[in-house]
Amino acid sequence: MTFERIAFIGLGNMGVGMAANQAKAGREVRAFDISPAALEHAAAAGCMPASSIAEALANVDAVITMLPAGPHVRSVYAEQVLGHAPKTAVLVDCSTIDVDSARTVAAQARDQGYIFADAPVSGGTAAADAGTLAFMVGCDEEAFPNVESALVPMSRITIRAGDHGAGQAAKICNNMLLGISMIGVCEAVALAERLGLEPERFFEVASKSSGQCWSLTSYYPWPGPVPAAPSNRGFTGGFATAMMVKDLKLAQDAAARAGATTPLGAQAGALYALFDRLGHGGKDFSALIQMLRGRLEDLV
Ligand code: NAD
Repeated sequence: MTFERIAFIGLGNMGVGMAANQAKAGREVRAFDISPAALEHAAAAGCMPASSIAEALANVDAVITMLPAGPHVRSVYAEQVLGHAPKTAVLVDCSTIDVDSARTVAAQARDQGYIFADAPVSGGTAAADAGTLAFMVGCDEEAFPNVESALVPMSRITIRAGDHGAGQAAKICNNMLLGISMIGVCEAVALAERLGLEPERFFEVASKSSGQCWSLTSYYPWPGPVPAAPSNRGFTGGFATAMMVKDLKLAQDAAARAGATTPLGAQAGALYALFDRLGHGGKDFSALIQMLRGRLEDLV
C-alpha cells in the first residue's frame, strides 16, 4: 500500500515534528489541531492546515493521531474519525494512553471495518523532529506491513509488540523501568557528591561498571559527561516530569488491574508526583536529582 495523503491530528510538541517528516517524505499532510498556534507551526513545517477533522480526512490513505491521553483518543476516534475516514485508510494512534482505551478504540474500528494500530513512541521531541522515533505497535499480524510503511518517515525502528494494546503495554513497562532507573542514578550521584566523589568521576566509573544503564550513559542528570542530556541546559526540554507522572500512573493502574506487583514503580510515581506538586512538572524528569540533593532552589 502507498501513502500519498495523510491526515495528522494532534500537532503538539511531538506531533508537529512527526507531521513535518511525513511532509518531507513527499506525502500530502492534512493537519488538524484544536490549537491555532499548533496549526500554524504545522503549516510552517510543510503541512496543509485543515479547519476540521472532517476536512482533514477527505481521501486520505492513513490517519495518524498524537493526542495527550486516553479520553482524547477515545472521543476523537468515536465521534470524528470512525465512520468518517475512508474505509481503506490505515488508522494509527501514536499517543501514550492506557491499554483499555487502545483496545476499546481498536474494537470499535474493527467493527466498522478499519485497520487500526496502537503505536506509541520512544524518543522524545528530538527524535520526533529528526524522524528517528522507535515505534512499538499493537495490531493484527497481517496489518503490520501497512502500519510500518505508514510510519516509515518518522521512524528509526518499528517493532510489532503483539495484538491490539500490546504497543501501549510495551510503552508503559518501558517507561516504568526508565522512571525507576533514573531515580536510581539520581540517588547514586547525590550520594557520590555527599561522599566527596566528583559526579564526573563517578560517571567514568559507573558507565564502565555494573551500574551502567541508559539513564546514566545517555541521560546523566549532572552536567558535563553527556552533553546532549537536559542536565546541561537547566533541565529544560526533554521529557517533562508531568508526562512521567502520567505514564507511571498508567503503569500503576495497569498493574492493579492485572494483579502485578510493582512496588518500585509505585515509589517512583509518588516521588515524581511530589516533584510535580512542588512546581517542577515542566522540568525534565531527571531534574528530580535537585530534590534529592536538597537543592530545589537551583531550579529556576
Ligand atoms: P502536547 O500536549 O504538546 O500535544 C498534544 C496536542 O493535541 C496539542 O497540540 C493539543 O492541542 C492537541 N489536541 C488535544 N485534543 C485535541 C483534539 N480533540 N483534536 C485535535 N487536537 C487535539 O503533547 P506531546 O508532548 O506532543 O505528547 C503527545 C503524546 O505523545 C502524549 O500521549 C505523550 O505522552 C506522548 N509522548 C510524548 C513524549 C515527549 O517527549 N513529549 C515522548 C513520547 C511520547
